Amino acid sequence: MNTLKVSVVTPDGPVYEGEAELVSVKAKSGELGILPGHIPLVAPLTINAVRFKNGADTLLLAVSGGFVEVRPKQVTILAESAELPSDIDVERARAAKERAEQRLNQAKQDNVDFRRAELALKRAINRLDLTGK
Ligand code: ATP
Repeated sequence: MNTLKVSVVTPDGPVYEGEAELVSVKAKSGELGILPGHIPLVAPLTINAVRFKNGADTLLLAVSGGFVEVRPKQVTILAESAELPSDIDVERARAAKERAEQRLNQAKQDNVDFRRAELALKRAINRLDLTGK
């Protein structure tokens, strides 16, 4: 089967390396489905799940921003943070979500805090969605 080499790297080091027949990411410009032989590109990512498909198996990772770099035989995700579902601490994500919601309720006059809280909330929801919590 024709596959892509895939790797997910964060500032803390590699999080995942493997192969996939199809990679799906949510770029800022929209959903991107990447098959082997795709034209090279670099695109900024949203806070979302990344999907690696192999036959009936789909591996999901929670990715917080960063970039996808596509080459014909390889996809590299350079993320600010990335976690496999099994590495997600649900209680931590729930606490982060609650903190962010409280800040959003308080920080209406302060745009910087508001934006930071919005992003923190998105990260927490992305992590919880991925674990199905
Ligand atoms: P928190 O407020 O709980 O730190 P955060 O969204 O601000 O959440 P990040 O700055 O995105 O955290 O990530 C910092 C580091 O902690 C990264 O290595 C990330 O993978 C890890 N991390 C954050 N939240 C979780 C979680 N719920 N479970 C596992 N790892 C997490």
